[in-house]
Amino acid sequence: MEKIKVLIIGSGPAGYTAAIYAARAELKPVMYTGIQPGGQLMITTEVENYPGYPEGIMGPAMMDNFRAQAERFGTDIRYGLATEVDFSSYPLKVTIDEEHQVEAESVIIATGASAKWLGLESEQRLNGFGVSACAVCDGFFFRGQDVAIVGAGDTACEEATYLSKLCKKVYMIVRREEMRASKAMQSRVLNTPNIEVLWNTETKEILGDKGVEAAMVINRTTGVERKLDVTGFFVAIGHQPNTDIFKGKMQMDENGYLITVPGSSKTNIEGVFACGDVQDHVYRQAVTAAGTGCMAALDAERFLVMKEHEHDVIA
Ligand code: NDP
Repeated sequence: MEKIKVLIIGSGPAGYTAAIYAARAELKPVMYTGIQPGGQLMITTEVENYPGYPEGIMGPAMMDNFRAQAERFGTDIRYGLATEVDFSSYPLKVTIDEEHQVEAESVIIATGASAKWLGLESEQRLNGFGVSACAVCDGFFFRGQDVAIVGAGDTACEEATYLSKLCKKVYMIVRREEMRASKAMQSRVLNTPNIEVLWNTETKEILGDKGVEAAMVINRTTGVERKLDVTGFFVAIGHQPNTDIFKGKMQMDENGYLITVPGSSKTNIEGVFACGDVQDHVYRQAVTAAGTGCMAALDAERFLVMKEHEHDVIA
């Protein structure tokens, strides 16, 4: 069985930042990228809010930079998916691509989260070209324009409010006749003059060739269709943390996000650390993911020093 000191699972900003720190600490990290190397930023266009890029940078180009920096200090980056873990004993065991077994002294989980989508063909085709799952990331591109947002949870309300400050008009598409969001969030939305809530409404199609030009929606009770002249279409119907392989093996909240000790990246398993969106449903930004990636590498380094010390005392 292959033995690894620091195993990093996932290759978004959190994973790469953990790799940069761990590699510079000469811990010889091995990273398995997952099936979408680079993570969610690979499906974004321009990133304008990551500090250090005054002119902005395309999401994929930014992830190339992260990767190059991690490689520069010797991270062993491999394409592969962690398919099973056994954290019931130490060292920690992880199976890659259902066949390769590794034994790790520490594991950094940076598997991220995936936005949920409506499932329309036009939504995927125009993703990054007017369709987005992150208002905080992309809202700025639509300032002064009319946009739509789908969803009725706290995220949708928060993002609709955020968009209302930048955009001329925000249509909020709610599939039922009530919202799931907290009352406070709802009342903020309902009291914002340039947000129009479309109750009982579903999206039929997003129209446009090279970018969003409009959205066709239908009222589920009356069957009346309406064309919304929008240039931006935001989907805020929830995120799914990528934690299937950890179910029943680690502490997670009711939505499947890994639980970390506040102020650290420590999970309930000794030697296992979590960073980025897999443990954060609140901020979900590249820069916050990178920050927690740094924390995970430092926590792993301290943990390994402590283990070595324990070993020396016993020996
Ligand atoms: P939620 O799961 O809470 O809400 C998802 C929303 O999307 C629901 O209103 C749901 O509708 C709607 N939806 C789901 N699928 C579809 C679909 N196919 N078509 C149309 N609408 C759809 O996700 P959130 O991301 O809003 O929140 C996740 C968690 O994070 C929650 O616990 C939330 O409270 C928390 N959060 C807290 C914040 C804060 O406190 N500041 C900010 C943001 C999130 P329906 O209701 O009909 O099922």
